[in-house]
Amino acid sequence: MLLYVEQELTANVEASEVIEEFKITDVVIMLLETPFRRWNSDSKNDLLKMGKPIPILSALAPDKKLSKVFCRSFNPNLYQQHSWLCGSHYIQKLFGWPCLLLGKIKSVWNTVGYYDLKNLSRSIQIHQTSKEHIHNHLGLKNPEKNCFTILDVVNEHGNLFKKNYNDNVRLNHLFMEHLIDLVLFLGKQELAFRGHDESSDSLNKGNFRELFEMHIIRCSQEIQNHYNSIKNIFTGMSKSIQNDLISCISEFLINQIKNEIKQCKFYSIQIDDTTDISQKTQCSIIIRYVTDKSELVERFLGFHNVSEDRTAQGLFNLVNSVLHEFDIENKLVGQCYDGACVMSGHLTGLQARVKEAISQYAVYHKNMRSTKMDVVYRNNIKLIKYNISII
Ligand SMILES: [Zn+2]
Repeated sequence: MLLYVEQELTANVEASEVIEEFKITDVVIMLLETPFRRWNSDSKNDLLKMGKPIPILSALAPDKKLSKVFCRSFNPNLYQQHSWLCGSHYIQKLFGWPCLLLGKIKSVWNTVGYYDLKNLSRSIQIHQTSKEHIHNHLGLKNPEKNCFTILDVVNEHGNLFKKNYNDNVRLNHLFMEHLIDLVLFLGKQELAFRGHDESSDSLNKGNFRELFEMHIIRCSQEIQNHYNSIKNIFTGMSKSIQNDLISCISEFLINQIKNEIKQCKFYSIQIDDTTDISQKTQCSIIIRYVTDKSELVERFLGFHNVSEDRTAQGLFNLVNSVLHEFDIENKLVGQCYDGACVMSGHLTGLQARVKEAISQYAVYHKNMRSTKMDVVYRNNIKLIKYNISII
């Protein structure tokens, strides 16, 4: 019968395309190719919601040439009379829906399909009273029932959870933006964050807390409500949070500076030493360069503890380690010191070691850097602009 159907269809030029379309959209074919148990849960639920396929099987129509006495044709009411019956449009045969989905024992109803109209009533009776069919029929009842209740509720709950979660993340971001603004303000103004007495009844809780309390009541109602809902868990006022925020902002700025230095053509360094509150010697490294916007900038890269090793070699190792990632050999064109005896002048000093390490340099000492170094940089800017124009 399948051969007959296909012969009929292939007679038409467009028939092959029609067959392929039927094959792709035919659920029975999909189930025969990939057993239901291997489908993912979403596809299973979609299929159960869609229900069994009940196509009109025109190929099961009577063939009068084959039988002049009996004239049988496919009756679509069979699908209502037997709730487990389904059909394949593509291969034009009847199948058993529960056995097709859940059957473990192979039969004609879940493998090749049934097409013998002459014996259909008897075959239906035999199959629907079989143990395997009854087992599959009952097994299908639960997933079918649940797919419209529990799964829908779970999905709805999941969507609600996602919406609340995303909304919460958005409000957390907005709240953190306010805290970051406060840190930036205090940092820019070089004000201390902490107070001597930060208790709730203190008259002065320190700059950070006082600024926050003044600021939060001027925020939008949405932010205030969010703050009130989370303040028992997170206020953002603790010293560790303040330090974390400072570290994050610092890391961000350092990364920006590093990117600028990596993109610049030349740079020079200014190195100075100082002592901290505990009398430990610290070395400060400042780098001067021209940005890709032709701006001369000076960036402080940080203090480094050199109290344990103030020798020229120790200082050189420090400078080399800090500037190594910025292509010190090819980009360093000048070094500037503040007159410290270890750092400048002598052949064994840091300056001489840097000279040895790099291919091009210029040396400027205290009180000269603010004028001559700028001349050097401005010349470099002209040189860079000239080179760009040539390119
Ligand atoms: Zn069955």
